[in-house]
Amino acid sequence: MKYKHLFGPILSRRLGMSLGVDLVPAKICNLDCVYCECGRTTDKTIALDTYTDPDQIIAELDDLLGGTPPQIDIITFTGSGEPTLNIGLGKIEKFLRDKYPQYNLGILTNSGLLTNPEVRQNLLGFDYVLPSLDAMFEDSFIRVNNPVDGQKCDDIIEGIRSFAKEYKGIMWVEVFILPGVNDTPEELAAFKTFFEKVRPTRIQINSMDRPGTCTWVQAPPMERLIEIESFFKPLPVEIISRKAKEIDFAKSSQIDTEHCIDALFRRPLTPEDMCVSYSCSINEIDAVMDHLISAGRVEKIRTGNRFFYRVTELEKKKRGL
Ligand code: SF4
Repeated sequence: MKYKHLFGPILSRRLGMSLGVDLVPAKICNLDCVYCECGRTTDKTIALDTYTDPDQIIAELDDLLGGTPPQIDIITFTGSGEPTLNIGLGKIEKFLRDKYPQYNLGILTNSGLLTNPEVRQNLLGFDYVLPSLDAMFEDSFIRVNNPVDGQKCDDIIEGIRSFAKEYKGIMWVEVFILPGVNDTPEELAAFKTFFEKVRPTRIQINSMDRPGTCTWVQAPPMERLIEIESFFKPLPVEIISRKAKEIDFAKSSQIDTEHCIDALFRRPLTPEDMCVSYSCSINEIDAVMDHLISAGRVEKIRTGNRFFYRVTELEKKKRGL
């Protein structure tokens, strides 16, 4: 079967090996963000509809997952527009939960429809929900996200607030920083106050690192992102832009990998545990662990709602265990 609505699996640094599910055709979205990597929104709408027939998506998933099981950590609902616009989202999620419960489910959303209780209900069964929040004020919201008529910044804020009260899974909120637009002291303070109340599992700071829709959009210097990260602390926050990963990779050589292995021999550790032990960021730990995973010495496993690192059987054999 040729798949029109599935892509990958691709290795996502945040979610592991991910099979992508595209729920809406390009480019249907309630926003037209200046940083969008999928191009300009051609159909700007907030109407729920069957943009792609859910039965077609289910048939593709069933064909792929029912054959030789793919080596994936997660099935991620995302794609070329806003996935929550597809009214069949809940049906697809239920199908996967019933027939393929062994897979983690994740979804990326721009949060614009989270004020709708039906949409929130559809997302409650996901293991990972990654909502975006790029502004706390209406004027910066318009400049960054260029919304459909009637969509307000407060919809996004209130939608995330309501969802956080109901959701029991892992929620990583992404904030895309546009220097001079949404990083004023007032707006950063408003973000922080909001996050202190909502308490997402993580705040992920992102920035432009490849060409977006608008050429005027520039990436902030890394020092600025680090300042913002520090400002949000002690909330759980990390920088996720690619540039940060390159820098973190260089810094990660400062972490003693043999010391990490020794610690993992004693017990599996979450990335967060390791950040505390080594006084470093999630990105730095992930960079070191990626290196050890490639060398076959460490593996990443999921238990319940959490990822853990542990040593491999091969590494144990090397130590005669
Ligand atoms: S919400 Fe996502 S898909 Fe829609 S315009 Fe923004 S970045 Fe692109």
